[in-house]
Amino acid sequence: MYEVLIVGAGFSGAEAAYRLARRGVRVGLMTQSLDSVMMPFLPPAPPFPEESLLEKAYDPQDPRVWAFHARAKYLLEAQENLHLFQATATGLLLEGERVVGVATWEGPPALAPRVALAVGSFLGARLLLGEVEEEAGRISEASYPDLFEALKTLGFRFVEREGVAERTPTTPGYRVRYHAFHPEEWEERTFRLPRLQGLYALGLCVREGDYRLMSQEGERFAQHLLGELGKGAGGGVLEAL
Ligand code: FAD
Repeated sequence: MYEVLIVGAGFSGAEAAYRLARRGVRVGLMTQSLDSVMMPFLPPAPPFPEESLLEKAYDPQDPRVWAFHARAKYLLEAQENLHLFQATATGLLLEGERVVGVATWEGPPALAPRVALAVGSFLGARLLLGEVEEEAGRISEASYPDLFEALKTLGFRFVEREGVAERTPTTPGYRVRYHAFHPEEWEERTFRLPRLQGLYALGLCVREGDYRLMSQEGERFAQHLLGELGKGAGGGVLEAL
């Protein structure tokens, strides 16, 4: 049984999962496509937070986005206490007002007493590329409406945001219109979505920022949760190096 389930292996979710697992927390890291784990739009550029997954996956000799993604995925898969798996969250599983896991498009539920949503620009997302408009959270990655619709049914409020991917020699420029939780739905200090117990959110689905900031948010979330779990500084668990 996971102690925490993180939905979304992007920059914030993957960093948080990696930091928590290294401190002995059993983490499930669910993401809709293993081919896009920690996949940048453009190559990340240092400086990076110390000891971060972002720093470890970066190789100045080979900054290509696919190579960066492959190294990050390898580090996550090799990490003890961390289970990275492919599934798409379609809704929350509840016992009363408490979240106990998520339902998946694939069928089997994923259960955990704490669920953190790190789903980036994928809530109610539309990708605009020239005349073309489609349901996608980034290029080549569909954004399924189920989770967003399920959250709205539960009463969550959202704000509209837009991100721009600059044109590069190998990719066309495009925009993504997506939704983030309304600021009143989220407690910045605790990362909680207090409408439900056991539910947290981090990353672009609650705040804007670049890769570095999202990595820092992942670290900050991990520190907070370690405190909640009694495994923080002085909590008696040595950092597994
Ligand atoms: P992401 O990194 O997007 O990760 C979210 C993950 O959640 C994805 O892997 C997705 O597959 C998964 N997911 C979504 N829904 C589900 C579901 N229902 N079930 C399971 N998994 C799910 N920042 C920069 O520093 N440089 C840039 O060049 C840059 N370009 C950007 C371009 C665009 C169009 C946008 C929108 C943002 C850009 N950003 C850029 C900001 C950057 O995206 C974020 O800083 C960072 O990727 C956000 O991290 P995240 O963890 O919140 O989300």
